Amino acid sequence: MASKRIRFCLLTLLALFVIVGGNKATGQVSGLIEFSAAGRLQRGIPLVSLAQEIVVMGRDGWLHSIDPTQPETQLKSLDGDYQPLSAVELRSQLRAEFGSDFEVVATQNFLVVQPKNRGDRWAKLFEQSHRGFVAYMSKRGVHVRQGRFPMVAIVFPDSNAMYDEFKKQKIDVSRVAGIYSNNSNRVMTHDSGHFSLVAATVRHEAAHQSAFNTGVHSRLNNTPKWITEGIGQLFEPQATTNMHTTAQRRERVNRESLDILRSSYPREKDAEFNQAIFDMISGDEMFADEPQVQNAYSVAWAMMFYLAERQPREFAKILNHTATRRPFTTYGRNERRDDFEAVIGMDAAEFSKRVRRFLDSL
Ligand SMILES: [Zn+2]
Repeated sequence: MASKRIRFCLLTLLALFVIVGGNKATGQVSGLIEFSAAGRLQRGIPLVSLAQEIVVMGRDGWLHSIDPTQPETQLKSLDGDYQPLSAVELRSQLRAEFGSDFEVVATQNFLVVQPKNRGDRWAKLFEQSHRGFVAYMSKRGVHVRQGRFPMVAIVFPDSNAMYDEFKKQKIDVSRVAGIYSNNSNRVMTHDSGHFSLVAATVRHEAAHQSAFNTGVHSRLNNTPKWITEGIGQLFEPQATTNMHTTAQRRERVNRESLDILRSSYPREKDAEFNQAIFDMISGDEMFADEPQVQNAYSVAWAMMFYLAERQPREFAKILNHTATRRPFTTYGRNERRDDFEAVIGMDAAEFSKRVRRFLDSL
């Protein structure tokens, strides 16, 4: 399919997190707290406590940034321990939030909120994507743990309803079929009748959600985008999430990415391909540069697909390494490059040569 999907994944942490690097955490607030956010009183646990900002993990898995100096925050310390909401509690909270036009379909790992009477295809898609993700990662030695929260997917009746919700959450994106947002820990998409067309995008976003909920990525530090988006792209083809098939490698190929690579980086543009890999190892700028975005996603796919298929040990090592970095710390260019070379065992130039050879073999 040649259509150009606009890519935008909301994986960056709350913008305020970056200040943590330059500010001393006061640690004044700890343990279970009550606070007001999104118009209601909630409970959660502070992850970082600064004079002007506390980052809180809510019982529903949301990450909130609250200002303890504002009276409307209604901050209060409570006795007792932090406990994530149970699936039953979360389900009734979702019912209250979305009202009687929606139903909440529960599966083993998900609570899927959808307009009434839309059957079970969404629940099946999410559940199959997640199980396929866990199997794929486990097989390659990536550390996968049981998530702490039931995963929530919201299926809006149409794109307008979805964009209304984005507006409420101050999410500024357009022309997407769905997103995963790190702050809400939700996948949001819409059901306007082109299920097979949006399925690839939904599998991409669902892979982000699975990764952040199983500890394959950390929600509290910044993972290089070639890794997070490479994972998203990896899971777009249905064959990647289908555990029961003895699928051939060619079925796991992300055709859209491969087509983009072949037209953007023909043989005579080898130097540009090398440069893209070199740039993406140490920074995320290519993903923010509109004319380069499609290339960025495609090169990220090539890098992760090569590792997953040809060097699964290093594939696991780079994921396990980035997932366990210290939370709330910046990940500088030199450190990213040094980590890459140490974990993968070669420099960008050698890596790029191998990826190119692998792509030629597909
Ligand atoms: Zn993505």
